[in-house]
Amino acid sequence: MKPPEARGLSVLLVEQNLHLRKVLVEALQGRGHVLTVCEDTESAWEAYRREHHPLVVLGVQDRRDDVIQFGHRIRSVPEGSSSVLLYVVEHRRARPLQPLLEVADDCLTKPLDPDLLQMRLLAVERLAAERAQRRAAEAERARLQKDLQALQGSAAGATAAGHEDDGARSEPHGPSGFRGKVWRLFGGQRETEEPPGNGKAFPSGPSNEAGMAPFAQVLPELARTAQPQFDEAADAPELRVSDGWWDWDLSANTVTFSPQWKAMLGYRPEDIGNTPEEWFKRVHPDDRDQLKATIAAHLDGRTPHLENQHRIEKRDGSYASMLSRGLAFRDTAGRPVRVTGSHTDITELRGYDPLTGLPNRGNLMERLGRALDRARSGNGGVSAVLFLDLDRFKNINYSLGHRVGDEMLKAVSTRLRSCLRGQDSAERRGTTVAHVGGDEFAVLLEGIRESSDAVRVAKRIQDELQAPFDVEGHEVFTSTSIGIAVSSPDYERPEDLLRDADTAMFRAKALGKGSFVVFDAGMHARAVSLLKLETELRRAVQREEFRVHYQPIVELETGKIAGFEALVRWQHPDGELLLPKDFLTVAEETGLIISIDRQVARDVCKQLRVWNAQFRRSSPVTVAVNVSGVQFLRPDMIVEIDRTLRNYGVYGRSLKLEITESVIMEHARYAADMLKQLKALDVKLSIDDFGTGYSSLSYLRRFEIDTLKVDMSFVSRMDTDDESWEIIRTIVTLGNNLGKDVVAEGIERGKQRELLLALRCKYGQGYFFSRPVDADAATALLVADARGETLLKS
Ligand code: C2E
Ligand code: MG
Ligand code: MG
Repeated sequence: MKPPEARGLSVLLVEQNLHLRKVLVEALQGRGHVLTVCEDTESAWEAYRREHHPLVVLGVQDRRDDVIQFGHRIRSVPEGSSSVLLYVVEHRRARPLQPLLEVADDCLTKPLDPDLLQMRLLAVERLAAERAQRRAAEAERARLQKDLQALQGSAAGATAAGHEDDGARSEPHGPSGFRGKVWRLFGGQRETEEPPGNGKAFPSGPSNEAGMAPFAQVLPELARTAQPQFDEAADAPELRVSDGWWDWDLSANTVTFSPQWKAMLGYRPEDIGNTPEEWFKRVHPDDRDQLKATIAAHLDGRTPHLENQHRIEKRDGSYASMLSRGLAFRDTAGRPVRVTGSHTDITELRGYDPLTGLPNRGNLMERLGRALDRARSGNGGVSAVLFLDLDRFKNINYSLGHRVGDEMLKAVSTRLRSCLRGQDSAERRGTTVAHVGGDEFAVLLEGIRESSDAVRVAKRIQDELQAPFDVEGHEVFTSTSIGIAVSSPDYERPEDLLRDADTAMFRAKALGKGSFVVFDAGMHARAVSLLKLETELRRAVQREEFRVHYQPIVELETGKIAGFEALVRWQHPDGELLLPKDFLTVAEETGLIISIDRQVARDVCKQLRVWNAQFRRSSPVTVAVNVSGVQFLRPDMIVEIDRTLRNYGVYGRSLKLEITESVIMEHARYAADMLKQLKALDVKLSIDDFGTGYSSLSYLRRFEIDTLKVDMSFVSRMDTDDESWEIIRTIVTLGNNLGKDVVAEGIERGKQRELLLALRCKYGQGYFFSRPVDADAATALLVADARGETLLKS
């Protein structure tokens, strides 16, 4: 979820100094806010009382405390608690900071640093958004409460009461009533393009809505997350402001940490005490020394101010990247007496993944980009990207829960980091382990000699990750599939290298768990053509480019047509008629097969209706339709088939479903249930490709199956290979004993028909009789059949 949209807030700016005012106005307008600018607190109060601005920016002159008092005044009204107060202070203030910290949500120091200003504004905007949401949720709750009371209690006039605060807010107002100097300024483009407040032009509209409008859209969402308890807050970090304060009293050696900072780390205010250790102990061990050194350097007077980025552990064990800035206050002798500063969560800016603390995808791309640049300028050597995917990680998430899944990812990160640490040699410039999303990691190896170096690293990683993980008391095993792409001058963009490593990883997955594959150019071509196929297939589904061909199933003895098998064809717009082997795999992987099978079933039922009316036969024509495993595993399949049959007025018994042996046997329990329901529709059932899987005899007996289809591979070899003949003999005997029809597929020669007849196999299908043909040709075959002509060749 994105952070709530905080732009277009109604902001009250109080600043005397002309120059500073200009800077602040520009910054605030640049961020799309609507400003009310006041020179003094008197007129500011007037403005605030009417509008209750969600954000108030206050400049504090060195010798004037009235602005701090103004903050308290705001806080004294009920609405004031949700306004965000951002103070701009002189950083050499000699006076204690405490009064300011009591009322301020955040502070900026003069002279203004433009970057810091933007960052702070972002932070206070978020806070304002969060508070507005909370307020709105509270109002909503109050309203519901009221409605409830109205329903329960005294009926007198309690129904549909207007919302009090709406009434107060919609009171018309304008700048005319203000004393002192007050300006009303709209943010940036909004001024010309679209007046704020849902098209109600200032000044007549309730301008507070200008700031509220975006939040209203997220209200329903918020109603659920409205109480920012700290535990839940971990699930909705975007609702929290990302800035905090600290104030270190050096003589007492105590630090006041702001509640925001504690909340940023997932703690309640009382969870963290006021010793410096509370801070340092949470800092990542690799970053702790440099943080302390930075602070020491500033206290010693070696740096004008303090600035440090470090990773800090949150309550949930994940790491945030923190930017800490600070300034020492010194006594007359120049000795530091206190240090005060800020904490800004820059996890996203900095490019680290919060869960694992590893560089994220963007960060990796930057490093890879630099490596490629160096290689191009001739002094970088070769780089390789290893794309890692944990096999069956989803199972861990599903079976043990997301918490364990997260812990697992952290454990993997740690192990990856330690197994790659210290591997850099003189020629190896660096190794980066990144978390690129979900259960996917990437390793960038810079300055390797050849791809075999990368292969060696891949193997080591696979070995390391194979050992069991102890995650919250669970012993978890994983294997890792790795794709490797090695840089070459052909690569211009870092994303391409990562993409190719990803493609290779997919191939590795296909080879089996725990494999690795080095990318080659052919793979890219295949990946591209697969993607193209998928795109075209989607379009084909929309445009209904699929045709059904019919292949007769004949009585082997007489050559009379017993029915047909429907086989799908894709009439590609470029003129080619494509066979299932060209597109079925992609159709199944993408789920498009469901729509395709739906179209086939519909066309078949349409055709059956025509044939049943046209041909009066002793037994009506049946058509067998192939059902993909994907569809068979959908519980709504039954309903859909029932609907199609009804739509076209076709009896269930005219339709036969072909389901492959493996799908049925792998999901035996479910299949038994499905088959029973299909039987209730009187639909006939056939097991396709029989003999290729492992059928349990007991299932076969129990399942309500009408037909076994002997797989073509046995039929094609039966006249030369004894074993195939033997298998067919067994299947036919089995079928005859269980009272099921047996259809032999793929009969191409007369000899095969004779052998099958000798085995007492009753039905057959194959090029010997007819190839699959379109509906018209199939109709012609039925006409001939009705005339007594048979499909037997002399
Ligand atoms: P299948 O269900 O085993 O279909 C039999 C396949 O063998 C068909 O290939 C058919 O054209 C081919 N065939 C029939 N007689 C002979 C013969 O004498 N010699 C040889 N060499 N081949 C013969 P096709 O049409 O290419 O279909 C291949 C597979 O695609 C089918 O195997 C079926 O599993 C699947 N399929 C076809 N149509 C559909 C459909 O509408 N939906 C789904 N889900 N799968 C389909
Ligand atoms: Mg079939
Ligand atoms: Mg088959």
